[in-house]
Amino acid sequence: MTNEVNPFESLQEQIDDAAVFLDIAPDRIERLKRPERVLETNLSVEMDDGSIEVFEAFRSQFNGDRGPYKGGIRYHPGVTRDEVKALSGWMVYKCAVVDIPYGGGKGGIVLDPRDYSASELERITRSYATELRPLIGPDRDIPAPDVNTGQQEMNWIKDTYETLERTTAPGTVTGKSPTSSGSAGRVEATGRSVMLTAREAFEYFDRDIADATVAVQGYGNAGSVAARLIDDLGADVVAVSDSGGAVYNADGLDTEAAKAHKVSTGSLSGFEGASEELRNDEMLTMDVDLLVPAALENAIDGTLARDVRADIVVEAANGPLTPDADDVLTERDVAVFPDVLANAGGVTVSYFEWVQNRQRFAWTEQRVNDRLERVITDAFDTMTDTYERRDLPNLRTAAYVVAIDRVATAADEAGVFP
Ligand code: GLU
Repeated sequence: MTNEVNPFESLQEQIDDAAVFLDIAPDRIERLKRPERVLETNLSVEMDDGSIEVFEAFRSQFNGDRGPYKGGIRYHPGVTRDEVKALSGWMVYKCAVVDIPYGGGKGGIVLDPRDYSASELERITRSYATELRPLIGPDRDIPAPDVNTGQQEMNWIKDTYETLERTTAPGTVTGKSPTSSGSAGRVEATGRSVMLTAREAFEYFDRDIADATVAVQGYGNAGSVAARLIDDLGADVVAVSDSGGAVYNADGLDTEAAKAHKVSTGSLSGFEGASEELRNDEMLTMDVDLLVPAALENAIDGTLARDVRADIVVEAANGPLTPDADDVLTERDVAVFPDVLANAGGVTVSYFEWVQNRQRFAWTEQRVNDRLERVITDAFDTMTDTYERRDLPNLRTAAYVVAIDRVATAADEAGVFP
């Protein structure tokens, strides 16, 4: 990972790259390049041994022109203010690409959850939710899971908010467990949209994904579900990795057994279904048809991009390619299907969860998956049509042209207050 590349600067560069192709005044674009506000707070939380620990935490509300701020909460030692700002901006353009009525936000706490007990994590989460309380709500800002958070954290946030507000408002947060007003299909949704994007990408190039070899970098919720669903299409997932390294098998890995191994041992290393273990950079530059970066930002920089041998890259993580990597891959004719489309399944099913919460009516998993498929394939077609019709340099620029146009139009229609 290239730590020197600031993800907030990457986001701004991506917006600038697309703005060139839009007839929007520079002052209007400037507004769309920075967050409306950022909460920075220090949470003082009592540990199990009675000591107090202070945790730095953020919530960035980037843009609300198309609807309430929306986006996940990340628990990671690498969280920074600029990372959260970038992630909140990516949410704005992601929601606009798939045309769901949300703006963008993102939150994070600087911590490694593996270092804390369940009751410590509960107190940390409730302390954060208490800080967020005046800023969030079903019509204001709606958090969700992100790296190292899931149903449990969302259930705690919902309970903290509802208790303090003396109400029931399940649509305050999405990604809850189904028994606490979560949606069927939400856990798989991000991986599912990655699979749908990969399936459409192969069809777009008149290739059969069932003949493809695949490498997946990152084996958390997005990567492991994407690997399994792509495997189900008949492709050979030959390599998967986590922060400890990659496992490889030329005949294809059993993606579910690899997940089970990771859950039981804490890492992919030592997986008996692998014939070889590789370093992370070796797997990112493997000779495969499809590469799915599904870990963190900046996984592939300009130098590594020169050695990428996949023909198609589908971004499951947010911001896995630096702008330099983008330039190199564009020049080398490697097709990159961007994060703002490929991983938008998570927030799309969050939207379905919010709609169900408002109606107090639960959809079946089939209905969720069918609607998700429609949203992703429609957005895919709009992106590829825009790419061809406007003769744009790459698909990310096409996605941003579609998204910025939608956000800028909503902003213009709203005017400026006061
Ligand atoms: N954290 C996810 C993302 O980056 C999901 C956000 C949401 O559901 O609001 O898209």
